[in-house]
Amino acid sequence: MSTAAKYAKNLQRFRQAVGVHDRENECTATGIGLSFFDMDRLDFDEAEELWPGITVHAVEMTTGNFRVLCDGEHGPSEAEVQAADVTELIGVEA
Ligand SMILES: [Zn+2]
Repeated sequence: MSTAAKYAKNLQRFRQAVGVHDRENECTATGIGLSFFDMDRLDFDEAEELWPGITVHAVEMTTGNFRVLCDGEHGPSEAEVQAADVTELIGVEA
């Protein structure tokens, strides 16, 4: 798969994840968090706008996954938030 194809496929996944997040939570999604490594290999830039209102950011997390970043708090611990929001990326090997 070309980088452009992976980029497009992951963008699709981000949209789905943000849609699910905003449907199931009171808070609003503000961005997508990726590991530094995945940002680089999938050709995303820090603070790049994916679509209006959603930007991509490097966060400390496992490679091969992404999480929805938002303006709310989901639960008592950050670990649970991460586990709930993490989705597998397409075209990368963790
Ligand atoms: Zn949220």
